[in-house]
Amino acid sequence: MAENEALFREVNERMEAVAHRLGPNVPYEFLCECANADCTFRLTLPTQVYESVRADATQFVVLPLHFTPEIEELVIENDTYWVVRKTGEAAEYVERLDPRSR
Ligand SMILES: [Zn+2]
Repeated sequence: MAENEALFREVNERMEAVAHRLGPNVPYEFLCECANADCTFRLTLPTQVYESVRADATQFVVLPLHFTPEIEELVIENDTYWVVRKTGEAAEYVERLDPRSR
């Protein structure tokens, strides 16, 4: 499950690079980064919010309720998106896969 989230994050990293040129307050569409491999939903949030979440390699942006308590904890909860943080082994795994640490 953590592998899937890391993959979606790679896609989002590229989308984010495009969004960055639009400015920090422009809402932009990102893929839901939840643990469900079949989830192709998108969520819209300002790039600066995405950036602040991504400052921590173990944090992911997901749609509300797209949350897997077995491997992550809830950090931010609001109407349009939730932010989750990987815990335990899943956290170590995604930190190794983080495109920004390579
Ligand atoms: Zn999802």
